[in-house]
Amino acid sequence: MTGLDPDEPVFGTCGPGGASIRCLICGAVDEVTFTELPSMAGYGEDTSARCNRCVSAETTDPIFGWRATPATRQRPDENHQH
Ligand SMILES: [Zn+2]
Repeated sequence: MTGLDPDEPVFGTCGPGGASIRCLICGAVDEVTFTELPSMAGYGEDTSARCNRCVSAETTDPIFGWRATPATRQRPDENHQH
């Protein structure tokens, strides 16, 4: 499988008028928790949107900007099988 690039969005809108948010990783709709915290950078704020089902997340902060953290592990080097 491909498509779990860190630059790929985790969430997208769906439903009438884009009123709902869907997790593009696991497909859950409106299972997103939004969090805003004062940033550790000392200015601005960190925001995150995390899927309640698969814990994939999108985060933004004043230093690094937008980042996606898909929960599904797809790294070949972690696919250790006995
Ligand atoms: Zn999800």
